[in-house]
Amino acid sequence: MQQATGSNCHVAVLAFPFATHPPPLLTITRRLASAAPSTLFSFFSTSESNTSLFSTSLPMLPNIKAYNISDGVPEGHVFVEKPLEDIELFMKVGRENFRKGMEVAVAETGRKLSCLVTDAFLWFGKEMAEENGVAWVPFFVSGVCPLSSHVYTDLIRENFGVAGIVGREDQTLDFIPGMSKVRIHDLPEGIVSGNLGSIFSRMLHQMGQVLPQAAAVFINSFEELDPVITNDMKSKFKKFLNVGPLILSTPPPAVPDSHGCLAWLDKQKPATAAYISFGSVATLPPNELVAVAEALEASRVPFIWSLRDNSKVDLPNGFLDRANGIVVPWAPQIDVLAHSAVGVFISHGGYNSTLESIAAGRVPMIVRPFFGDHGLNGRMVQDVWEIGVIVKGGIFTKNGLISSLDLVLSQEKGKKMRENLKAIMELAQRAVGPEGSSTENFKALLDLVSR
Ligand code: UDP
Repeated sequence: MQQATGSNCHVAVLAFPFATHPPPLLTITRRLASAAPSTLFSFFSTSESNTSLFSTSLPMLPNIKAYNISDGVPEGHVFVEKPLEDIELFMKVGRENFRKGMEVAVAETGRKLSCLVTDAFLWFGKEMAEENGVAWVPFFVSGVCPLSSHVYTDLIRENFGVAGIVGREDQTLDFIPGMSKVRIHDLPEGIVSGNLGSIFSRMLHQMGQVLPQAAAVFINSFEELDPVITNDMKSKFKKFLNVGPLILSTPPPAVPDSHGCLAWLDKQKPATAAYISFGSVATLPPNELVAVAEALEASRVPFIWSLRDNSKVDLPNGFLDRANGIVVPWAPQIDVLAHSAVGVFISHGGYNSTLESIAAGRVPMIVRPFFGDHGLNGRMVQDVWEIGVIVKGGIFTKNGLISSLDLVLSQEKGKKMRENLKAIMELAQRAVGPEGSSTENFKALLDLVSR
């Protein structure tokens, strides 16, 4: 294997340009780049993703350069099934497009590659790294529980079969370390249910198979959060480095408060308001959107609802006039969750959102899982960390949400959740502090990528 040292290092960083995958990858790249100023980092993503990532208020470091690669969408293509379809189009040609981009970066900089850091979804990174004679260091952007589900996909399939899960939805994964609370129906589609042959499902399956061959796998979590699963993953991988939560060690650039969320929160009583957001991809079906609106109205819980403009048409007539809250197209979520007026976070269970709730240290979640890792994150929130609840039956009903709001905001159980959040947040702060586990793991990562 080629050994580049000191100022010769050139790290290629390959993003998976969908949902909230690229921002944490850029965050860790920035941290590495500032700790290793003579190492070059070439960051590859689509033009759409790079434009939004690199237009933030943070000054870009001179040793990071963004390169755009094609999104793989043929000219004139009409989408039928977003978001999966754009992922599949991208993945069909992604490997070749990344390869071309890396050739451009090597030619431009005159530096051979010394390390390949990729989103772990880009499983072909292992072969690309081998072709270049460098180490492959994948970054898994969700938590250790979803990671374990992909590493153990074959075993899960052996245990449950792949002929459907109807009637067995609540069977648990107690044969996997640390996963005894997880139920089959929490699993991401493509493991035992859904279209196992799709490009997306095969991508995740292949990822689970090749990760043990990576020089190291790193993740935006901290060892103390899930020690049993973490230790199990350590036994599977050459190195397993928990370097998070990045939101505490390397806070992302502030999102402008263009719609006055914080000023509105300033007028509310402490720990009374609900913040509602389902991330950058998930969309509530109209009947559930109405159920949420009716529950908010009936309970009189003040709220900020981050809701895309095209969904507003489904709100009940006159809701926005009667509402004891505000509906905005995008909120400065991290600052909102940190505001003392917020008492509950109604969420899809996205991983970044879950970590942000933990980092806030006192805002329990009501989780309505949609797809991917949401079910597993929701299960950990409710049954392992005990910092929130999953909505009854997995979907919103007016009465179900009213009783979840009451539980979190007014009952003893909600108080306990806040205590648990505080304790977990303190563990997270210790992990990213001097000599904390994530700080030490970051040093190991830095050593690996800039050696
Ligand atoms: N977010 C935000 N404002 C909003 C909604 C979401 O800033 O109004 C941010 C949120 O802070 C989080 C990300 O978008 O960092 C959502 O990431 P997550 O992993 O939870 O969900 P995804 O978008 O990947 O489904």
